[in-house]
Amino acid sequence: MRTIDSSVIRDRVVEAYRKLSFELDGRLLESLKEAKQREREEAAQLVLQDILDNAEIARAKLIPPCQDTGTQVFFVELGQEVLVTGKTLEAAINEAVSIASRDNYLRASIVKDPLYDRTNTRDNTPVVFHVKLVEGKKLTVTIAQKGGGAENMSRLYMMSPSSVEQDIIETVVKTVLEAGAKACPPLILGIGIGGNFESAPQIAKHALLRELGTPNDNARYAALEKQILVRLNESGIGAQGLGGSTTALAVHIEQAPCHIASLPLAINIQCHAHRHIRIEL
Ligand code: SF4
Repeated sequence: MRTIDSSVIRDRVVEAYRKLSFELDGRLLESLKEAKQREREEAAQLVLQDILDNAEIARAKLIPPCQDTGTQVFFVELGQEVLVTGKTLEAAINEAVSIASRDNYLRASIVKDPLYDRTNTRDNTPVVFHVKLVEGKKLTVTIAQKGGGAENMSRLYMMSPSSVEQDIIETVVKTVLEAGAKACPPLILGIGIGGNFESAPQIAKHALLRELGTPNDNARYAALEKQILVRLNESGIGAQGLGGSTTALAVHIEQAPCHIASLPLAINIQCHAHRHIRIEL
């Protein structure tokens, strides 16, 4: 059995927030540069350059690339041979987020009650916490700061089980068209196909967090990702909704077994301020 004190986890998460909060990852920046080179529309080129300049200013001056520093989403893989001592894992992570939000001047974006008492918790807690037990002695923590605008335009559909590939494509395109500029394109789409009412959105969010543009392991789903990406970039929405061919940078699908009477389809839209990081202990 390997023992990790909760204070070690807290400190690593706090440290990770210095990068997570201010830096977009290299693959995303490359993708934005490639999109700018492909673009034929001047407005789209200018918008993409603005996004790249903004990212550079954020990195250099330690300012979040968007004022919405999001809901803090944690996917944890906990090795079965790891024992966390001290506080619970979830408590350690919430403590880390509270410290990191204060130290890095992150906007406080969480209210304690959704309907009756929208008092701000002032430190971006509580986080959204998912934990999965895995083999071994490692603890892996993947963190996303998920902005509200793109999250608001995300959707779950309980499709007919007789739906075919084309129905999935049309539903995703319809959802992105409805989102328009509100989700701050260029987008990354996490799509969960299968599971059930609670797990489809979870796998959609998890899909967002794999390395940008990495295809699905299954050849048919990988081909579907490509088809959806092509359709989205033909939609004419474009970067920040100003037209052009860069509505989305990547489409990531995760699939799961589902009930014979169901075919859940969750579409988690992510904006260009795609902040995520993975740490291993
Ligand atoms: S959708 Fe993304 S870029 Fe737009 S305001 Fe929200 S976090 Fe910022």
